[in-house]
Amino acid sequence: MFRVHRCDFHVHSCLSPCADLDMYPSAIVAKSIAEKLDIIAVCDHNASENLRYVIRAAEGTPLIILPGMEVASSEEVHVLALFDNLDEVNRLQEIVYRNLSGSNREEVFGCQAIVNDQDEVEGFNDRLLIGATKLSLWEITHHIHDLGGLVIASHIDRESFSVISQLGFVDANVPFDALEVTPELGIQGARIHYPELSSYPLIESSDAHFIQDIGKGITKLLLERGTISEIKMAFENRGGRYIQV
Ligand SMILES: [Zn+2]
Ligand SMILES: [Zn+2]
Repeated sequence: MFRVHRCDFHVHSCLSPCADLDMYPSAIVAKSIAEKLDIIAVCDHNASENLRYVIRAAEGTPLIILPGMEVASSEEVHVLALFDNLDEVNRLQEIVYRNLSGSNREEVFGCQAIVNDQDEVEGFNDRLLIGATKLSLWEITHHIHDLGGLVIASHIDRESFSVISQLGFVDANVPFDALEVTPELGIQGARIHYPELSSYPLIESSDAHFIQDIGKGITKLLLERGTISEIKMAFENRGGRYIQV
């Protein structure tokens, strides 16, 4: 049955060094349900270890969790990767870790906690997750597409770590499936602000690092199911699926 799905495709967990420790799996699920969200994507910086626990925490609820990742390219551009299943994101994880060096300095960047669906700390990720990978934007997008995922340019209207802040423009050679804007600008505001990007689908998400921010930015999609192929169709305005603005 076709219906509008309320989506927040950019939510961090406590695995991201800059995210609050209250962003543990069961709390993310509870807040997302309270915000009447239908689909969320959990996208930590260059990492994915909390995803299976968020998925487990959502079992038995109507909330759909898309496993994702926010990858930092060698140009320091943030890119969201969204997938249907953990196998795909795990394969991206292997590629990202092969191209990410350095160790986290918890006192500087923050703690990177792996927390299970029972709210128990399983461990800590010691890698420099806040760092940039050695992968170019072009390489990352092609890896994500090869694995069956969607590629979304993160927060294009931000003054740091966005494709526009780093490159000065949205490179048409990089096959983005959509561009994300912040709730401060919004999709309609972005259409006015960036007329040159009229051919791109735009989404709005929260980029929540704190529990109270989940659902502060959402995209409404008319879909039959919450899958990557359906979302792609909505981005492309095909098969009766579309982004509702
Ligand atoms: Zn970002
Ligand atoms: Zn983010």
